[in-house]
Amino acid sequence: MKLWNHYHTPASTAEALQLLRDYAGQARVIAGGTDLLVEMRAAGHAPQEALIDITGIPELTRIEATPEYILIGAGVTHTQLVKSPLLAGAATCLVESCGVVGGPQVRNVATLGGNVAHALPAGDGTTSLVALAAEAEIVKDGARAWLPVEKLFLGAGRSLLNPAQDLLLRFRFAPVAAGREATAFSRIMRPQGVALPIMGCAVWVQVTAGHFSAARISIAPIGPTPARATDVEAALSGQPATATTIEQAAALAQATLHPRTSKYRATADYRQEMIGVLLRRTLTAAIERI
Ligand SMILES: Cc1cc2nc3c(=O)[nH]c(=O)nc-3n(C[C@H](O)[C@H](O)[C@H](O)COP(=O)(O)OP(=O)(O)OC[C@H]3O[C@@H](n4cnc5c(N)ncnc54)[C@H](O)[C@@H]3O)c2cc1C
Repeated sequence: MKLWNHYHTPASTAEALQLLRDYAGQARVIAGGTDLLVEMRAAGHAPQEALIDITGIPELTRIEATPEYILIGAGVTHTQLVKSPLLAGAATCLVESCGVVGGPQVRNVATLGGNVAHALPAGDGTTSLVALAAEAEIVKDGARAWLPVEKLFLGAGRSLLNPAQDLLLRFRFAPVAAGREATAFSRIMRPQGVALPIMGCAVWVQVTAGHFSAARISIAPIGPTPARATDVEAALSGQPATATTIEQAAALAQATLHPRTSKYRATADYRQEMIGVLLRRTLTAAIERI
């Protein structure tokens, strides 16, 4: 079964954008292909005219640090992320979430950009990027812009990015300040058969003089797009960083977040229970890291 007619490997962002313009909507961006090829095979229609492979573009395949930000190219693979000494402390939750995506073969080719551009709210990399308050650099309708990662999600599987026209370039977020900030990720997954978790949770916390001074909590999937548990974050602020506070946060999360039943993954009731389990686990891990 022929899936495409032409396959291009541009060496720069400018070249990739030119190719997308030249094909005028008949080309599609591809990175690791672990979502896209499954989708194209399932669709079973006429071959795609062209695929534009972004994984050879140096700007999109680097992990860098500036005094202000950690920058990760959209074409960085999950394996690269997991092996990065820079990210081990500066973005532990991201390393943990990318480390459980698929198996080694998937992680060796699948990219963080593909995880976000595919626009499923339960994507493991996405869950951690939301807790890190990451921004995404995109080229949309020919213009470059940075915007919060959540803004790329319009609905389950619906991205702000048009994959026949737009590009996701990089992510950026502030590195975790060791000693007073920490992150953690955990998920509950069926042992086999499906590609997305039953439920995942990433947290970023800041502790000052033994109290939570700030927190960001990302639990997914709750709705069709990723979102932070802002009520729980607000409730943690100013509270002592103790097991009692974590227990109260877990109870509040279970009372205020309402996941839905998925016929492939789990019932809403089970997921509701797991919200408490995951939040307790990740908050405790983050506090221990501080
Ligand atoms: C066996 C298996 C297990 C998996 N397990 C997990 C899992 O545990 N957790 C999880 O979250 N996911 C899982 N996945 C899904 C998938 O591997 C990830 O979402 C992965 O990160 C997708 O990245 P990719 O580079 O392969 O994307 P691709 O398939 O190349 O692309 C996905 C989509 O994003 C678009 N796109 C890609 N890069 C860009 C870019 N730079 N700019 C614009 N658009 C772009 C493509 O056009 C396409 O629409 C699994 C998949 C498989 C096959």
